[in-house]
Amino acid sequence: MYLVSSCLAGIPCRYDGKSCTNPKIAELVKQGKAIPVCPELLAGLPVPRPCCEIVVDKSGKKKVMSANGEDLTKEFDNGAREALRIASENGITKAVLKSKSPSCGCGCIYDGTFSGRVIPGNGKAAQLLLENGIEVLTENEADMQKVFG
Ligand code: SF4
Repeated sequence: MYLVSSCLAGIPCRYDGKSCTNPKIAELVKQGKAIPVCPELLAGLPVPRPCCEIVVDKSGKKKVMSANGEDLTKEFDNGAREALRIASENGITKAVLKSKSPSCGCGCIYDGTFSGRVIPGNGKAAQLLLENGIEVLTENEADMQKVFG
């Protein structure tokens, strides 16, 4: 059983009200082999919602900020904990999450300038899952090979 990002499974839960469907991941969910989660919806955030990115403040602290300047760190942390809870309750050891997202991104994320640039790093949910021993993959080609061969 996998944990997967809901937007990859075809659920229109992104900040802009769209999905980013990956047909193979959607099929995994249909077959009952994956559980879709959206950490941001689990945190109670609405659809649509302002675009958010992880920014590092002057003291070096990471915050999740919306494009209109709202600090949503607490909400993103709550969503990450909920995703971990669902993974743990279902004995899940592998996740396939949407790349670059401030929640789901793994390996690289947007850099906090809302300019489309990416930097090395993990989203809040991906980071918490990794810290708890869950393997996190993304929808990129190389990772998809690991899941589907
Ligand atoms: Fe997709 Fe994750 Fe963003 Fe939800 S939080 S829309 S699942 S990338």
